[in-house]
Amino acid sequence: MPDLIVIGAGLSGLALAREAAGRGAEVVMLEARARIGGRVLSHRTKAGAYDLGPAWVWPVLQPRIARAVQAAGLALTEQAETGGFVFQDQAGRIQRLPHGFPQEPPSLRITGGIAALVEAVAAGLAPGVVRLEHVVRRIALTETGVAVTAESPAGPMTLHAARAALALPPRLIGGIEILPALPPSVGAGLAAVPGWMAGQAKALALYDRPFWRDAGLSGSAFSQVGPLGELHDASLPGAEEAALFGFFSWPPALRAAHRAGLPELVTRELGALFGAEAARPREMIIQDWATEPFTATEADQANGNAHPDYRPIALPAPWGERITLAGAEMAPEFGGYLEGALAAAEAALGA
Ligand SMILES: Cc1cc2nc3c(=O)[nH]c(=O)nc-3n(C[C@H](O)[C@H](O)[C@H](O)COP(=O)(O)OP(=O)(O)OC[C@H]3O[C@@H](n4cnc5c(N)ncnc54)[C@H](O)[C@@H]3O)c2cc1C
Repeated sequence: MPDLIVIGAGLSGLALAREAAGRGAEVVMLEARARIGGRVLSHRTKAGAYDLGPAWVWPVLQPRIARAVQAAGLALTEQAETGGFVFQDQAGRIQRLPHGFPQEPPSLRITGGIAALVEAVAAGLAPGVVRLEHVVRRIALTETGVAVTAESPAGPMTLHAARAALALPPRLIGGIEILPALPPSVGAGLAAVPGWMAGQAKALALYDRPFWRDAGLSGSAFSQVGPLGELHDASLPGAEEAALFGFFSWPPALRAAHRAGLPELVTRELGALFGAEAARPREMIIQDWATEPFTATEADQANGNAHPDYRPIALPAPWGERITLAGAEMAPEFGGYLEGALAAAEAALGA
């Protein structure tokens, strides 16, 4: 019988599993999707990788990320922000400002995408530890530990272990039957915690070259019209292609109502902000996290933009003796962020 079943192979679950295995525990991971990474998803081209989920890290503030990037031997590059800034007001009028609002400390990207970091963490696990396409549906407390039931391509399966760790956005825990049932107040407490950015969506537009720099623009823009609200250069250093990306300001319901026409609406906006060439990307990708059942719930369709003040939640006895909560939203610090995903994994195991 394994010592630990980790549910969810995002950065938090993978870090937790790796650390537990490193301390000698026998670990199994059950992951609902057919890939690892969860909210981390990097789109790969011949030139490199572009992040459709998290893209930025701040290693000067985030010691665990700094250590993980260094251990993986990954390079960092600063978010390109040099040059003019484009602002579109509610009436659609465009203004070009001489400079934008540089971040301090600067936002850094990982060369190879955040997926490269996730893969480096996963590479420390023995083959067979991660079982993809295993959707956990039930966790029952048993005399000796837990019985975890998942739907798998081979049908339902149940695994027994001494303990389980849930490393997923807390609202998704409501979709797992826990036996005996958690007290309603605990369930309500978990349901009240939004998955950070779970209701968000990103658009990525790939071009042959960063033509906006010819016009002295950084690629950063704000639009009060949308569909994208905040845009940035996503080009890879030295690559023979260029990219812009944007976060949608349109909420999930509006995106859903315009689903089929969304790429066209985005390219039109890019053209308005950065000129005709921007309206002709060679590739356009829209990643809508609100439509992903293993990231977002119904409640996340109404997410605001404010960063919640995340606090760790420990399950009461008897559940807490067998089931640990991890995931970025359970972090003692940097809740919601990649650093928080690592901090929660660390806290789940105890220092
Ligand atoms: C668009 C976007 C931009 C972001 N930008 C940044 C950024 O720039 N910097 C930053 O630090 N953070 C950012 N974040 C947040 C960052 O993505 C998260 O902090 C981090 O990825 C969370 O990792 P996690 O492992 O806690 O959760 P997840 O990555 O959500 O992992 C949970 C895993 O559980 C799996 N799962 C769910 N249900 C089940 C089930 N029933 N059974 C089995 N498995 C299940 C999921 O498939 C998933 O793999 C962003 C997020 C988004 C969506």
